[in-house]
Amino acid sequence: MLVADALPRRADVVVIGAGVFGAATAFHLAEAGVDVVVVERGDFCSEASGANVGLVSLSPRPPGLMADLCRHATDLYEALSDRLGREVHFQPTGVIRVGMTEESLADVIDWAERQRSVGIEVDVLSGEELRELEPLLPEGVLGGCHTPRGGFVSPFAVVAGYLERARELGATLVPMTTVTGITVRGGRVVSVDTTRGRIETDAVVNAAGAWAGEVSAMVGLHTPITPIRGQVLVTEPIAGLPHRVVMGISPSIRSTWAANGIIGSIQEDAGFEKRVTLAVMRDFARGITEMYPHLREVQVIRAWSGLRPKTPDQMLILGESEQVPGFVVATGGFDIGMMLGPAVGEVVADVVLGRTPRFDLTPARLDRFAA
Ligand SMILES: Cc1cc2nc3c(=O)[nH]c(=O)nc-3n(C[C@H](O)[C@H](O)[C@H](O)COP(=O)(O)OP(=O)(O)OC[C@H]3O[C@@H](n4cnc5c(N)ncnc54)[C@H](O)[C@@H]3O)c2cc1C
Repeated sequence: MLVADALPRRADVVVIGAGVFGAATAFHLAEAGVDVVVVERGDFCSEASGANVGLVSLSPRPPGLMADLCRHATDLYEALSDRLGREVHFQPTGVIRVGMTEESLADVIDWAERQRSVGIEVDVLSGEELRELEPLLPEGVLGGCHTPRGGFVSPFAVVAGYLERARELGATLVPMTTVTGITVRGGRVVSVDTTRGRIETDAVVNAAGAWAGEVSAMVGLHTPITPIRGQVLVTEPIAGLPHRVVMGISPSIRSTWAANGIIGSIQEDAGFEKRVTLAVMRDFARGITEMYPHLREVQVIRAWSGLRPKTPDQMLILGESEQVPGFVVATGGFDIGMMLGPAVGEVVADVVLGRTPRFDLTPARLDRFAA
């Protein structure tokens, strides 16, 4: 079980934010023997990482760093329960991508060919063949593809697993504590101020998600992150929902491990406003019951929302600032951050440790936004 530690006076590295990026980074640092403290404003996993629907599939992005990180993260997820010594509830259901129009089907087929070109097993299937796999797919599905890679995780189990294991390896976890300032002296990070006191340190990892811009501003850096709200609606348990991840149908519905229907998850630019709105809940209900009329009488039991951290080019921001050595940024997961988390944690720890990361992080460098 996660516990709150006392604020240390000193640490080698301060990780700001206990979402999936911060938690995975802290684990890899602790595993390397680094004295790391995680400072979290709220509870662990209380923002985007606790609001997502846990879908971990291969990247919809073009070939390049994001797609490479997604593929690597899939490998890491497959072995994560063993590595952390606790269950992260990875369900390798496989993923179906569907096309509802000729245009979207062409995009799906193009995506499938790109995956095949890097050795991923993907089958292109007709609408009928897909409905044989998932009988509940609507008639409007023209065709699509299926890959056995990917599935779902329990986001809370993943974040808690990373943090618990990190703590066993010596990390300090400080929830309910806000970072309010960062002191730079002689051009380097020297300390972090929090609502519970100061921590002397040599390095900071800004894993503050949608709030990463605020944290970077504490050292005078510009980190352009826009919060993009997503909303999710959960129903009472329903028999016979699609078993696999189905992408390309909006709104989407899937079954949780307890058979509840989980419906989501729109992308809205609403600033830092996190309220669930009735209009979106109605749209979800209308969209789902048009596709699946037999769900009309199903009861909704809860709803929530969260803020995705989005960069202008939808590329992550990963790496150490050239202007402020010791200040490392790890954010911009946007709509696939839960998927990317394990790979991000690994490469960001490499950056902090001065090791060469597995992938060339140049496309994700923070300084690409410098004026
Ligand atoms: C509705 C919804 C559905 C989604 N579905 C999926 C999905 O199916 N698959 C997928 O891969 N991704 C999905 N995502 C995206 C994914 O959730 C995010 O990209 C990812 O969780 C971002 O993780 P993070 O660690 O960067 O940010 P967060 O989880 O937001 O963590 C940042 C943390 O920093 C803390 N913090 C901020 N400022 C401070 C401060 N000053 N001091 C201390 N702490 C601070 C915050 O409290 C927060 O806990 C979804 C997102 C939403 C909202």
